[in-house]
Amino acid sequence: MAQNTIASVSVDLDAIACYWRIHALPGAPPDQVRHVILRRCLPRFADLFAEAGVKATFFVVGSDLRDDPEGRAQLAALAAQGHELANHSFTHPYHLVRLSRADIAAEIDAAHAAIGDCAGAAPVGFRAPGYNVSARLIDLLCERAYHYDSSAFPAIPYYAAKAAVMAMMRVVGRPSASLLGDPRVLASPTSPYRPARDAPYRRGDAPLLELPMAVTPVLRLHVIGTSVVTFPEPMRRRMVDAALRRPFFNLELHGIDLADAARDGFPAALIARQPDLRRSLASKRAALWATLEQVRAHGASFQTLAQAAGTLAAGMPHPAR
Ligand SMILES: [Zn+2]
Repeated sequence: MAQNTIASVSVDLDAIACYWRIHALPGAPPDQVRHVILRRCLPRFADLFAEAGVKATFFVVGSDLRDDPEGRAQLAALAAQGHELANHSFTHPYHLVRLSRADIAAEIDAAHAAIGDCAGAAPVGFRAPGYNVSARLIDLLCERAYHYDSSAFPAIPYYAAKAAVMAMMRVVGRPSASLLGDPRVLASPTSPYRPARDAPYRRGDAPLLELPMAVTPVLRLHVIGTSVVTFPEPMRRRMVDAALRRPFFNLELHGIDLADAARDGFPAALIARQPDLRRSLASKRAALWATLEQVRAHGASFQTLAQAAGTLAAGMPHPAR
């Protein structure tokens, strides 16, 4: 039993339009799935976490709060129950790090205002669309006194697979809206660290913490929702077990992980490109439930990312002023 392990569960609430852009599908997603993540998937996460006794962190795209009052009401209720709402930008631009300083600031600030208004408390954490951060982005978050960024995804096989898929899409003339990102992330720390203000994938003395996504030791296999819901059970258990050997287990999920493709009306074009959409909702929920139980059996304590950032910062050297 590792009594001191902290486990955080977060859910990125990317709308279907994001997946449309990643897969370079033509036009816009059909109307019936426009708000499906907040209206159909989010309540399933709320149920799962209530049953498991977990307070989670939801990364919210600010413009969804403006466009979907029903989804906004659900998020406000979750915040009132003690879940954390954190900043996932205002419009989820995959090329956020390529924007000007003023445009990045506008993305952060518009989401900050919308989420703070919904939750009744200002967000203190950020996750970048597509996992890509830059010195400019970290600096803007420091200026705004954010407590943490949780975007670093130092998973080697994941990065290689993403690079291969993106290259293939370029070859067939359908380039993805996704951004491969800075390869320096592959050498970044895999445990929480203070980043350097001018080099976010290196240790330094920024006043916020970087909380990397869970990977296994040595091989750096990604332990995220997609792997949890699609890998065979024995492999999933071994990977979660390996990731739990670290003092901090940062399990990143996406709203789409609890989609019911047929009943939620997902279009065939998207189902063809997302293997997780071809799994039954029951099997995906069971895999997530079993993972939460495995974390608890390990002796880990569940904390929101904001709580974890507070606990972890207390054990680190003080930042530069
Ligand atoms: Zn996202």
